[in-house]
Amino acid sequence: MNFKKPVYVTQPYMPPLEEFVPYLEQIWDSKWLTNNGPYHRQLEKELCEYLEVPYVSLFCNGTLALMVALQVLRITDEVITTPYSFVATAHSLHWSNIQPVFVDIEPVTFAIDPQKIEAAITPRTTAIVPVHVYGNPCYVDEIQRIADTHSLKVIYDAAHAFGVQCNGKSVLNYGDLSVLSFHATKIFTTIEGGAIVCHDEEMKRRIDSLKNFGFADEVTVVVPGINAKMNEFQAAFGLLQLKHINHILSRSAEIDCRYREELKGIPGIRLLHRPAESHQNYSYFPILVEPDYPLSRDALYQYFRDQGIYARRYFYPIISDFPMYRGLPSAAAANLPVAKSVSERVLCLPIYPDLAKDDQSKIIEIIKSNL
Ligand SMILES: *Cc1c(COP(=O)(O)O)cnc(C)c1O
Repeated sequence: MNFKKPVYVTQPYMPPLEEFVPYLEQIWDSKWLTNNGPYHRQLEKELCEYLEVPYVSLFCNGTLALMVALQVLRITDEVITTPYSFVATAHSLHWSNIQPVFVDIEPVTFAIDPQKIEAAITPRTTAIVPVHVYGNPCYVDEIQRIADTHSLKVIYDAAHAFGVQCNGKSVLNYGDLSVLSFHATKIFTTIEGGAIVCHDEEMKRRIDSLKNFGFADEVTVVVPGINAKMNEFQAAFGLLQLKHINHILSRSAEIDCRYREELKGIPGIRLLHRPAESHQNYSYFPILVEPDYPLSRDALYQYFRDQGIYARRYFYPIISDFPMYRGLPSAAAANLPVAKSVSERVLCLPIYPDLAKDDQSKIIEIIKSNL
């Protein structure tokens, strides 16, 4: 059983090339390449409508959007966050001179455990940066209650949460700000890209200024901003992706549904719990390889690789185990047993709109064949 083409954990959806050409012609014609051009403005508008959020500010990537989110809310000192995420969550704090304080995750949804947040709050805590990991909504109501009690800001790393809803509305409406990533590996992509979602016009104005060197108008610089703007090619790519988003999401949902059907009840394979009241985007399919499965997680990972299937161990190692964080008091293994244990068992299976039916069959077959 060998694959001619490698199967990666994800693959961007590429709309027909001829549909992109008119956008390029327009850019060539106008020679407006970046700095809040027409496609940039149109994408902000269309994303507000599609995501059902009041304000969107586009960025060149999600990491700089996270850093600007921290800047605009003047977050300093210590921030409570999860170790079970992509490393950019903590790096954006580190680059902002903020000390991450890691709090363990909850074993069912892998979201930061709200019951453990309060014990980590100190007089230096200024914010909570939770992650809607795999698009599963965090415990948003509990987190807001804690933040209100202790006067903390909440910035959601919503890099996985494009189009996700909970309690009947976009999950991006929770917290003070939510930050999206549109990297090529994400379900909706602008090649590289990201966005901040905020609630009011004044905040959007400050964010837009910060991502453009701090300019308020042609001659006025009001804050020491950075260059984190999205360009017109990225915005055009995003507009085209948005035209195909229903296809992207429905194919991902079908693939998720088939994995769930086929893998449920397999001894030693645990599937991620998806809260019934949430509407997901199906951009990740993590499984936990438990001790009663015949192969270890790493053996199964290697077995897949040998067949040309590049399943990924997201998120292993946990962020707190990387050298720049492991000396922190909150990084101690005893503080993060759930995150540690999940990271040692997790494997993300390939899921993307163009995943061939045969390839998915083979992935399922491999998991079953080891029994
Ligand atoms: C992808 C990702 C980021 C970083 O986004 P970039 O656009 O690649 O900078 C941040 N946090 C999480 C959880 C991510 O998955």
